[in-house]
Amino acid sequence: MNNSFRLMYIRDIPVEIHISWLLIFFLFSISLAQGYFPLMVEGLSSQVYWATGIITTLLVFASVLTHELGHSFVALSENIPIKKITLFIFGGVAQMEEEPTSAKTELKVTAAGPLTSFALAVITGGLYYLALPPGQILSEAIFFVARVNLIMAVFNLVPAFPLDGGRLFRSIIWYFGKNMLKATRIAVTVGSMLSFFAMGFGFVIIFFQGNLFGIWLIFLGWMIYQAGQSSYSQLVFKDTFSGVKVSKIMSTNLQTVSPDATLEELVDYFLRYKYGAFPVVYGSTTHGIVTLQEMKEVPREKWPYTTVAHILTPLKETMVINPDSDAAEVMMKMANQNIGRALVMEDDGELVGLLSRTDMMRLIQMHMVLGE
Ligand SMILES: [Zn+2]
Repeated sequence: MNNSFRLMYIRDIPVEIHISWLLIFFLFSISLAQGYFPLMVEGLSSQVYWATGIITTLLVFASVLTHELGHSFVALSENIPIKKITLFIFGGVAQMEEEPTSAKTELKVTAAGPLTSFALAVITGGLYYLALPPGQILSEAIFFVARVNLIMAVFNLVPAFPLDGGRLFRSIIWYFGKNMLKATRIAVTVGSMLSFFAMGFGFVIIFFQGNLFGIWLIFLGWMIYQAGQSSYSQLVFKDTFSGVKVSKIMSTNLQTVSPDATLEELVDYFLRYKYGAFPVVYGSTTHGIVTLQEMKEVPREKWPYTTVAHILTPLKETMVINPDSDAAEVMMKMANQNIGRALVMEDDGELVGLLSRTDMMRLIQMHMVLGE
C-alpha cells in the first residue's frame, strides 16, 4: 500500500502505518480527551484528559496491531510468510505472501485475529472489573480498550468477505465443497449483499432520522463491497493463469503485413481479419507492429502513398516476450504499463505468436464460466 511509512519490525515482519491513520489518531485522541473522559470522570485538568486520551488511543492502536499479529504468527507457524502489516484507517491488514492452500489453514489463520481480540477484551475487561477502582480515569481508559477489542472481534466476524468473518465463512464452504474459487464467489456474494444492506440502512437513517452515523455505514459498506470484488477478480486472475505459459494462450494464427504495403492495402487487412493490430514482417525479419489507431492518425487522402513502414511501432518499442514466460507475470506487466499487445518471439528472433489483453480477458471470462 502506498502512502505508508515503516514503523518497526516484529519477528522480521515490517509494520507500516498508512497516513490515514494519523488523522484517525488525531480524531480519536481529541474525542476522548474533550468528550468521552470529561463525561466519565469529572473535574480533572485538561492535561490529564489529554494524556489519557493519547495513551488510550495508543492502546487501541496496540490492540489493532495485536489482532494482526495474531493472524501473522499463526500464518508463520503454517509456513506462510507475511509480507508486511499495514495499519490504516479502519484497522489493519496482515499481507500474506501467498494465500492459504487449504481450507483448514485458512480457518486457523483467520480465526486467530478475532480470538486475539476476544482474549484482549477478556483480559482488560477482567482487569477493570476485578482489580481497578471504578470512577478513576485510568480504570475508564482500560474499560474503553476492553470494549474496543470486543467491538473489533465482533465486527470482524461479520461474514462479509474479505473481513475475517467472510474468510471463515469461505473456509467452511471451501472445506465442504472442495472448491476455493466457488467458495470465494459465494462468500463475496454474501459479503456484497451485506454491504448493500449496510449502505441502504445508512441512507434510511440519514433521511428518516437525520442520523449522520449513516455516512459511516455507507462508507464502510462501499469499502467492503470494493474489497470483496477486487479480491475475487485477483483470485480468478491467478487461478486462470497460474503455471500457464505464454505459448498456451497466445494466438498463433498469425496474419502479418509487409512494411512496403500502403495504408490503403492495410485497410483491407483490418476489414478482412478484424484484428486490432498486425505484426509487420518482411521475409524472416520482424519490424514491429502496426495498429488500427496508428493508421487512423494518418489523413485518409495520404493512405494511397503512405507505407506501413512509416507508421509502425518499431520492434524496440514493442513489448516482446518469450513463449516460455509465465502468463500471469506478463499479464500483470501489460496491465501495469497499459500495453495492449505483445509479440511472442523465440530467442533467435522467430515470431511465433501474438498476445493481446483482450484475448486474455476473454480467457478469464471463459474460466469464470467454465472453470468451476
Ligand atoms: Zn483480522
